[in-house]
Amino acid sequence: MPNADATTETQSGPHPERQFAEACRAAGLAFLEGTRAGWGKRELVAWLVGPYRELSAQVGTESMPPPSMQSAQNAIREETLDELLHLVRVAVSSALADLLRGDTTCVTECIRERSILEGGERDGVWLPADRPRMRLEARVLSLFVVDYLHSARPYEADLAVCTDCDAVNFDGAGRRCPDCGQPSQTRSIVPSPVVLAATR
Ligand SMILES: [Zn+2]
Repeated sequence: MPNADATTETQSGPHPERQFAEACRAAGLAFLEGTRAGWGKRELVAWLVGPYRELSAQVGTESMPPPSMQSAQNAIREETLDELLHLVRVAVSSALADLLRGDTTCVTECIRERSILEGGERDGVWLPADRPRMRLEARVLSLFVVDYLHSARPYEADLAVCTDCDAVNFDGAGRRCPDCGQPSQTRSIVPSPVVLAATR
């Protein structure tokens, strides 16, 4: 657990806020990569009750026990799942591409929709908020936004979003999609919206 000493460590030492932000980003990337690889209901539910729940702060569910694996599975209709996951993945990739262009609309929306909340004892520390009936897109995006608010630099310097297959990575160097080989959208390569739309 975080302790008072850890917050005063140097950049190279343990830093609970940075570790938390990185864990949020890793969970968001796991969703994007998993859904690209064809996640089904079981994998989605495992993610929701696993990494997502571990990182998010439950809000408005005090009087209710957290949903079990079984009830979460029952709530998701299999026939609409593939399409839902595809739409969410594309929407989140698109919001990340906006961030990389310096468009922070998704950050202000997360704050306005309260899908993130200020937490901890220090100002400026954000947590993903797990609210009842939140859209899946908002849940996934909240993880990246919490990471972005901790440090925007990786989103400006390292983030790459493939213009062809929507693959997302923070590898920075290379600038070609490791999945399909197409040039990735980076800070310096910004296709017009028309080109982006044509690739979908
Ligand atoms: Zn690609």
